[in-house]
Order: sequence, then structure tokens, then C-alpha cells
Amino acid sequence: MAIEMEDKYGAHNYHPLPVVLSKGEGAFVWDVEGKKYFDFLSAYSAVNQGHCHPKIVDAMVDQARTLTLTSRAFYNDQLGSYEKYITEYFGYDKVLPMNTGAEADETALKVCRKWAYEKKGIAADMAKIIVCENNFHGRTITIVSMSTDPDARNNFGPFTPGFVTIPYNNLDALIKELEDPNVAGFLVEPIQGEAGVFVPDEGYLKKAYELCKAKNVLFIADEVQTGIARTGKLLAVEHEDVRPDVLILGKALSGGVFPVSAVLCDDEVMMCIKPGEHGSTFGGNPIAGRVAVASLEVVKEERLAENAERLGKIFRDELRKIDSDMIELVRGKGLLNAVIIKPTNGKEAWDVCVKMADNGLLAKPTHGHIIRFAPPLIITEEQLMEALEIIKKSILAFE
Ligand code: PLP
Repeated sequence: MAIEMEDKYGAHNYHPLPVVLSKGEGAFVWDVEGKKYFDFLSAYSAVNQGHCHPKIVDAMVDQARTLTLTSRAFYNDQLGSYEKYITEYFGYDKVLPMNTGAEADETALKVCRKWAYEKKGIAADMAKIIVCENNFHGRTITIVSMSTDPDARNNFGPFTPGFVTIPYNNLDALIKELEDPNVAGFLVEPIQGEAGVFVPDEGYLKKAYELCKAKNVLFIADEVQTGIARTGKLLAVEHEDVRPDVLILGKALSGGVFPVSAVLCDDEVMMCIKPGEHGSTFGGNPIAGRVAVASLEVVKEERLAENAERLGKIFRDELRKIDSDMIELVRGKGLLNAVIIKPTNGKEAWDVCVKMADNGLLAKPTHGHIIRFAPPLIITEEQLMEALEIIKKSILAFE
């Protein structure tokens, strides 16, 4: 019924697994028939703190009963304390609050261009931003203009100019493009999530950052998916001791209860934006502020980065022990992991996901042959071992 209605009345811009969910708690979701599943997608890493985390939901409900939205035409009594909290938490001078990941990415691009013209001295309309092949930064026209995915681009042109694409994890290509004095920024995902959890070589991010510094180019990290403890550190760039000039956050900034995203940077860059030059009706609303503070507190109080780091290692070790030709490769960091599936006996990643759903675990294929495994970070070791049994049983069913 729910599936038929979505099919009939909704745009067909997604291809969901055929399960209809009606409840979530911690690492679990339940379908309309009451069947319980491990959630190994976590809404693409938005639900890092677990489904319906009581502290986050309480903050949201309490604020929703008090004041929901003022717009930024007026001050509200929550935004300032949220801004103080998040800037101290991540160590930046300023934050610009938005709602979705794509909006935060767009904001970062605009901030970067402004800085390029007003501080770096690039001539009008000449600024370029370097991006990587197979990136995923969202779905707006400008963002798909940076994409190399034919599905993201086909028949959506004309595209926004000003981007240069280089292969991911390739420093030589970066060095070459950085020779152009009109380059203003380098936008990069510390791990390419949507591309299939592609982890770059050790040292890549650090070196890329240093190369950018040497050329007065902003290093812009899109941590919408990798940030907020997912990869075993608060930010994935911390694995290489990098402090991005511009940091983009979304998804788990709200624990998945509300769209909250943010761009953080220092005054030198952020103060290039003046009143009226950028904004959003909902960005920085009082509910978002309360929810984001609660979500970030949960990350520290429940030591989610440490849990992701420890359980991630166990997870990859156990996956690698599964004796199946279908498993071509296991990769990831913390609790952002993927398995590359070799089609066997006519069965592929989609079939494995359907089988896992039958057995009580939800995950989704990406690019046809990759399955991403990203459970909520509050998952316990015991739960993780139980989930691994389901994954193993499901894959071995196709042997
Ligand atoms: N950036 C990255 C790295 C992402 O993974 C995503 C979503 O998956 C986005 C941006 C876009 O976020 P949203 O879907 O909230 O617009």
C-alpha cells in the first residue's frame, strides 16, 4: 500500500529496497509488519547517534513547543549559543548555518569565490575551484556541474562554469592544476562516500592541504558524510592532522531528526560575506540550533568516535574472514565501510541486499556492485557481531 502510493504519487527519483519502515530506535528500525532490522545505512550517515535519540528528540520537541522559526530578519535566543558551541567544538572563528548538505556545499563554493575576488585578488568571474572525479556533493545544478556521474548530469545542462576536475587521490594532477593562478579552492571528500567508500592513500589529504597552502588556495573539506565521528575521528581529516580552511558539515549534525548543515571557517574568509549576500529562511532556526547542540553533545558524551574506530576494525576483520568468492574487497574507515561484490551465479549486490533484508539487516547497493555498511555509531560490539552473522549468512546463501 505505502509502496504503491509512493509509486503512483511520488516522483520516481529513487529506487528503494521494498521495505516500509514505521519505527526506529538506536541501531534498529521496524517495518509496518513489526519486523525488526539492523539499520546499516543510517540514512546515509545522518543517524550516527542512533534512531530517535532521546536527548536529541527532547531538545527538538521542547524547542518546537517554544519557538520554531523567526527567519534571520530578527535575532533568536538559540542561534548565538549554538554558533558559540559549534565554532568552539570544531575550532573555527565563524559558522554559516544552512539546512541540507547540498546547500552547505553551495555556501562553501560561494564563500570561496567571494574570498578569491576580495582577498586573493582574482579578476572578476575568473575564479576556478578544483574538484575530484567521482565526487558527490549533492544535487543542485551547480553541484551536478562538478559531477562526473552521467546519471547526475544527463539532460540537466547547461552547467555552471568555473570547475576543474582532476582524478581523486592523485597529487600530480593537483600539483599541475594548482599552477593556474586563478584557482581559488580545492573541494574534496576525505573519503568518497557515494563513490563507494573510496579511501585515499595515506598522506594524500595532508599533502594536498600543504600544496594548497603553498599556492594560497582554500582547502575545502566536504565532511557531510564522513564527519561527526563516522570514520573513527570527529572529522575524517583528523586522521591526517589536517585543518581545512573551509569545513562543510550536514547529516549527523542533527542526528537525523531535522535538516541541519553548516559551513565553518575563519574570519579572513567568512567575513567576505556581507548582509544580504547569502542566506536561507530556515538556516539557523531555533530548533536546528537546539538539535545540533544536543547531537554534538551526544557524540562526545557517548564517545561515538572511539566506538566507531574500535568496532570498525572488528567489522572489517570479520568481513574479511567470510569465505566467499562474492567478496572482492572490503574497505573503509571507522564505521564507514564497503564491500565490493563480484556477481556470482547471476546474483549481484542488489540480491545480497534483498537477502540481508529478509534476514533482518538493511543496507543499500551503490553503483551496482558495492554495498556500503554504515550502522549508527551507538551500536554495541554484541549487536555488531549479531549483524555480522546476518551478513555472512546472506552472502553464503549465494555460494
Ligand atoms: N556531500 C556529501 C559528501 C554527501 O555524501 C552528501 C549526501 O550524501 C551531500 C553532500 C548532500 O547532502 P544532502 O543530501 O543533505 O543535500
